[in-house]
Amino acid sequence: MKELALEINNVSFSYKDSGQILKNINLVLEKTNSMGIAGANGSGKTTLFYLITGILKPESGFVNIYGKPVKHGKFNPDCGFVFQNPDNQLFSPTVYDDLAFGLYNLGFSDIEIKQRISSALEKLSLEHLKTRAPGHLSGGEKRLMSLLSVLVMEPGLLILDEPTSGLDMKYRRVLINLLNSIKVPKIVSSHDLEFILETCDYSALLHNGKIFGKGKTGELFSNRGLMEECHQEIPYSLKNIQI
Ligand code: ADP
Repeated sequence: MKELALEINNVSFSYKDSGQILKNINLVLEKTNSMGIAGANGSGKTTLFYLITGILKPESGFVNIYGKPVKHGKFNPDCGFVFQNPDNQLFSPTVYDDLAFGLYNLGFSDIEIKQRISSALEKLSLEHLKTRAPGHLSGGEKRLMSLLSVLVMEPGLLILDEPTSGLDMKYRRVLINLLNSIKVPKIVSSHDLEFILETCDYSALLHNGKIFGKGKTGELFSNRGLMEECHQEIPYSLKNIQI
């Protein structure tokens, strides 16, 4: 087996004031792959991501990133998490400051920070946004900036929670092209199954806190019985190849 970027081993979790949200989750992600997580609202996707990033602690089981146990409450530079709401990620007076924030904390020099930010913005032809206040950006611009603020740190694993929500077609396509151009393993939750099909070679279906199915994205999303059981619809592009 190739090197594992992520190993989720028998993880269960409950919030204090709700029942068990995740039950015996087992998932692995190889360094060269990306994985989509599909599931209805409330199925536990965000909770799973909080456990991978160490924001929450499993009540049982463990999570390893590149073979090292995730430590609860400790920032892990190998694990780049892009929140569902970009306003949780952008809080500085300017876009530049937001993109620089993580790099400063990791101890990079001013010159290196400037270089990384310039090259990230150039790649998307968004240099003109550098001095803007994040609060004044459009929804699409905010989402891209929250992603860039993570990408400039060059994490070994990228975790994206509902990255296409609120994006128009143009920014959705920019996002797909960007994600497919970076060779970093990704774990991505989305209700946009066509987006998962385009960006993730493997996927898992989460339903009522359990993994109901996992496998190659196209095969998994073509499985009518499993998709219906998890309250999902077969994506339009796969409608002719149901199994
Ligand atoms: P998803 O991302 O798939 O929509 P979540 O992980 O956000 O699902 O939520 C899973 C379940 O956990 C939901 O029933 C939600 O109400 C519950 N939940 C989420 N956060 C909390 C919390 N802080 N305290 C109690 N219950 C929560």
